[in-house]
Amino acid sequence: MSELSEQIFIDNVRFAQSGRTLHGIILPAKLERLREVVEEGEITFTMDGCVDRGQTFLELDIHGWLKLVCQRCLEEMSWPIDVHLKAEIVDAGQLVLVESEIFDEDFEQIPAQTEMNVGEFVEDEILLALPFYPKHSEADCGALLQVKSQNENGSAFTVIAGLNLKSSKEL
Ligand SMILES: [Zn+2]
Repeated sequence: MSELSEQIFIDNVRFAQSGRTLHGIILPAKLERLREVVEEGEITFTMDGCVDRGQTFLELDIHGWLKLVCQRCLEEMSWPIDVHLKAEIVDAGQLVLVESEIFDEDFEQIPAQTEMNVGEFVEDEILLALPFYPKHSEADCGALLQVKSQNENGSAFTVIAGLNLKSSKEL
């Protein structure tokens, strides 16, 4: 397994037809769009090409973690990434027609390309998998733990803190 420090381009139809596999490690700091939202993390991926009933496919598995900021307590948190995707490779002309008909989020279509950028493809899927509003589970979140201990003290401040939290959650 090698780190994807250089850009890798594949002919995706030929990759699928010859049943090839590609393993790699991705560091978010090296990906332009991902590093804008994530500072740290480590992602491994496996991409398999295959042919099924005359159609060519890329199967992509992405696993790892990214460091995100909890939007409730603003502390860092480790966010697991686990994506499985089977993408059908189609001619660019077919793509527009089918894009509006996709209902299954695990199934995608990608255009046939002689120079497909593997890093960008993986990066796209990671970005899609990122939560819009990442937050700790209720048991782990610093903001909620604080309110809980204030509640136990029973001070008037507790109620205000609780109300603030509720209204910011509703946003
Ligand atoms: Zn939190």
